[in-house]
Amino acid sequence: MHSSPVIVWFRNDLRIADNPALRAAAASGAPVVALYILDDAAPDLWRRGAASRWWLHHSLQSLSETLQNLGIQLVLRQGRAEFLIEELAVKIGATKIFWNRLYEPWAMERDSQIKIQLRHQNIDAQSFNASLLFEPSHLRNKQGEVFKVFTPFWRACLAAATPTSPLAAPKQLNSFSEIESDVLSHWNLTPRRPNWAKAFSASWDVGEAAAQNKLKLFLSKKIMSYKIDRDFMAKEGVSRLSPHLHFGEISPRQIWFMTQKKIPNSADAFLREIGWREFCYHLLVANPQMPSEPLDRKFSRFAWREDFEGLKAWQKGQTGYPIIDAAMRELWVTGYMHNRARMVAASFLVKHLLIPWQDGACWFWDTLVDADLANNSGGWQWVSGCGADAAPYFRVFNPVIQGEKFDPEGAYVSKYVPEVSKLPKRFIHRPWEAPQDVLQAADVTLGKTYPYPIVDHVFARQRALKAYENLRLENTKA
Ligand SMILES: Cc1cc2nc3c(=O)[nH]c(=O)nc-3n(C[C@H](O)[C@H](O)[C@H](O)COP(=O)(O)OP(=O)(O)OC[C@H]3O[C@@H](n4cnc5c(N)ncnc54)[C@H](O)[C@@H]3O)c2cc1C
Repeated sequence: MHSSPVIVWFRNDLRIADNPALRAAAASGAPVVALYILDDAAPDLWRRGAASRWWLHHSLQSLSETLQNLGIQLVLRQGRAEFLIEELAVKIGATKIFWNRLYEPWAMERDSQIKIQLRHQNIDAQSFNASLLFEPSHLRNKQGEVFKVFTPFWRACLAAATPTSPLAAPKQLNSFSEIESDVLSHWNLTPRRPNWAKAFSASWDVGEAAAQNKLKLFLSKKIMSYKIDRDFMAKEGVSRLSPHLHFGEISPRQIWFMTQKKIPNSADAFLREIGWREFCYHLLVANPQMPSEPLDRKFSRFAWREDFEGLKAWQKGQTGYPIIDAAMRELWVTGYMHNRARMVAASFLVKHLLIPWQDGACWFWDTLVDADLANNSGGWQWVSGCGADAAPYFRVFNPVIQGEKFDPEGAYVSKYVPEVSKLPKRFIHRPWEAPQDVLQAADVTLGKTYPYPIVDHVFARQRALKAYENLRLENTKA
């Protein structure tokens, strides 16, 4: 009988299946102490945002129940992990601590520091990869450099190795005596007044079981049409697994293996997106400044505008372009935004309004339930043309055409911008072109019930192209 317990430090791996840290603890045969620390050590801008906190609350609740069924208590602590871990380990006499790796720059730095500290106390600290298919630092191109282009990156990943198969959930864990714990509800992770997250619960089931169910449903009903349907905002053509993946309620290995099992060789388009997630982490690990600085350094001289009113109109979904407003309101109401909508709304901010992408990334960070440092920074840099393998800056999305192409029935707009929902299809993405009698019949009074466009598309496009041309000339001179 072991008396000294092992600690499993849960972070963004809020699941019991395919959890190598938990598996190692189970295999040790020692009593297991499951710990979660609410540690806001991230630099101010990147502390967990409000929508993420809502998700975290529900995810911890779910994990706690799952662990309870295995006879294990989830111990909650709030504060600096570097102090709390060591304090708890010494107090309960733990000689081993296991955790799964994080890849945010400050977390990597903090975790290496903690490992050193623990070793000084003769406590064995071991970490595992549980959130990526491939360890980012192991992947290099033929020149031994970090990949900057997605396709060769993904080809190299697939050629290097098949991802290892997922681990089963432990059937049994030895429990340790009850330990003092914070009370989850006292952390105030969910909003009270005003409760801006009241519609979140209708959009999401949180937790490991919900994530597994969602994957099963996606594989049985949607994957065969994913390649085409994924771009249509009103269709339920995508998996909506992103928050589950971010919080580690499901692992990419589980997704990979279940997908290959269900439809071998026919899921390339979907697995490629999982590949983009890997690529974003690969870039973040190699470029810790990626959340705030452009990977393409010439963009640090870009002539961004300061436009407080424009930023507010964009955040509130009041730009006068229905597709942009629908996207921004979907985000506010559900904590999620469809990928195509993210691309179009982000492009509008950085190209039509010339507002720095970092301002958009911060807003997404606070409002997305799937806010993820690697994917968010990668997505914003891609749209802005300053990232690795990014969309060229001069490709300026026309919000009307994007709306008509990817929301042809206007169903997405009608759902989130009800003010224009009675407009006929041919005007729903361009209300300002509708004749007066059509507007009247649809109860639309421009400038009153729905705004005029805050900027003209043709003017904005020219202005963006000019700004880019100036940047190019400046860099040629420099
Ligand atoms: C400006 C911008 C910001 C973004 N911010 C985030 C973010 O904070 N968190 C986040 O998870 N994703 C982000 N993305 C990527 C993408 O929009 C979301 O991952 C996707 O919409 C999630 O929906 P889904 O789970 O249904 O995706 P699916 O299409 O079903 O894809 C499956 C999974 O693949 C990954 N994935 C898909 N597309 C991408 C992509 N372009 N880049 C990286 N990974 C991808 C996600 O983990 C996703 O859950 C952003 C994209 C843009 C353009």
